[in-house]
Amino acid sequence: MNRKKCFVIKDLIKFYGKDGLEGETKKWVDDHLLTCSDCKSWMDTYKEDNEDFENISLTDKEKALIKRVKLVFKLGIGVIIFLAAWVSIWLFV
Ligand SMILES: [Zn+2]
Repeated sequence: MNRKKCFVIKDLIKFYGKDGLEGETKKWVDDHLLTCSDCKSWMDTYKEDNEDFENISLTDKEKALIKRVKLVFKLGIGVIIFLAAWVSIWLFV
């Protein structure tokens, strides 16, 4: 078994679902998956661990966007709490 080839294949599988692989490369991976049960089971496990396997690039963008929205939201709440505390200090002191 060519372990170095398997290493490359497993790396390529991450791009397999989002049309990141084309033509010769995809065929190369397909051919290898047919003959290598190790890589085949690795891909099945990878798919199970990544339910959004088919839309990895999209969800990565969405994840980044959600992260930013959450950060802005947290900052906004922080500012509101700070202002509320600041105003109440001025009102009640
Ligand atoms: Zn392999």
